[in-house]
Amino acid sequence: MGVFWHGQARHRNCHHGVLLAAAKAVDGSAAARANSRRNKGGTPVYAGNDKEQAMLKTISAFERLGEENAFAVLARANALAASGRDIINLGIGQPDFRTPEHIVEAAIKALRDGHHGYTPATGIPALREAVAADLHKRFAVDVSPDSVMIMPGGKPTMFMSIVMFGEPGVDILYPDPGFPIYRSMIEYTGANPVPVPVREENGFAFSAEETLKLITPKTRLLILNSPANPTGGVTPKSEVDKLVAGLEKFPDVAIMSDEIYDQMTYDGEKHVCLLTYPSIRDRLILLNGWSKTYAMTGWRLGYAVWPGKLYDYARKLAVNLHSCVNAPTQYAGIAALTGPQDAVTKMVAEFDKRRKVVVAGLNKLPGVSCATPKGAFYAFPNVKQTGWKAKALASSLLEDSGVAIIGGPDFGILGEGYVRLSYANSTENILKALDRMGEFLASRKAA
Ligand code: PMP
Repeated sequence: MGVFWHGQARHRNCHHGVLLAAAKAVDGSAAARANSRRNKGGTPVYAGNDKEQAMLKTISAFERLGEENAFAVLARANALAASGRDIINLGIGQPDFRTPEHIVEAAIKALRDGHHGYTPATGIPALREAVAADLHKRFAVDVSPDSVMIMPGGKPTMFMSIVMFGEPGVDILYPDPGFPIYRSMIEYTGANPVPVPVREENGFAFSAEETLKLITPKTRLLILNSPANPTGGVTPKSEVDKLVAGLEKFPDVAIMSDEIYDQMTYDGEKHVCLLTYPSIRDRLILLNGWSKTYAMTGWRLGYAVWPGKLYDYARKLAVNLHSCVNAPTQYAGIAALTGPQDAVTKMVAEFDKRRKVVVAGLNKLPGVSCATPKGAFYAFPNVKQTGWKAKALASSLLEDSGVAIIGGPDFGILGEGYVRLSYANSTENILKALDRMGEFLASRKAA
């Protein structure tokens, strides 16, 4: 078997070498160059090719699966930077801060203490207890640690909840513009994606009335997100109250509330945690995590609160998929929740300062108007009066002026006419980016 495998590897490598030479001769593509670099060390590289894969019959759902364009923009921005261009990245949604030191130390200690094995699929009990205590401290809600599940990031909770409810013939409601993975996953399951409009004139809060009107007997799941990506919108308590009162008439509709930005609110706006509404607790899934609050995007640590039997479904999915979150990261998660919170306060205060800079700067640009976001770390300016289509504007800005932002349509049909700027970058860079945007808009005709 070993001999056979090595033979295969050599064959593939050699075969790939021929393909690579052909690719380089034809287009000198970046991919070919990258593969060539990787190949130099003699490591077998198998890139796959149409001929070898032509017979595979994969499921059609994959043709419907979407992506997050922010990652493609990040890759393009990095490639331009690597080629020597001066790039300012306001594209990616991750804090530009390091994870606080005491959290990093807790992970290192866990490794040194020998926490190297599997943990329960639902997470280590001490971390689930810390999550329950944190929710109690911040929102005065009683959550049993037995309904808390530790997840490898925030995204897996949306993945799992959407696969639990999505199938052909059912509707799933999701915010538009909104985080692109909601729609992507809904489409993957074959369910009908029903966009709930998130409007600038409502301060990018969702409207209870509009949401409730979209519910039909086919609706299985409603996805909510406040504070919101990409708009920075925060839905006020009065609107959430109305929505929850309306939802009481639809007891078979599950709700997935994505509250990953819950600690990032400004201007005295208070986050409303959906767990505080007893009438929907038996069908509410809470998505949250450490990525944004503790600048831990790369650690892959999140949590969900699952009601009733959904907890066991999620546990089974975890057992089938990832077994558990890596142990040291979970110890880091305990340190984050139980340790000092001053790093969070400082980071949010810094975002608040930059938010003011970015909004003031955007509103001075020709054809641009920007509502003041009340949460997260995004601004979602209206660029309709510039004459540019949003995605063309975003890509021309990156290529010509070296400023990475994301076109609104990457977040949904209703995103046209808007772009998203992440202000997770230094004030100095934000000011430089605004200058470049001003020069660009003044000198370039809309394409
Ligand atoms: N929900 C929203 C609204 C987000 O913006 C993000 C990250 N950009 C996530 C969930 C996913 O978080 P994580 O990186 O922890 O998977």
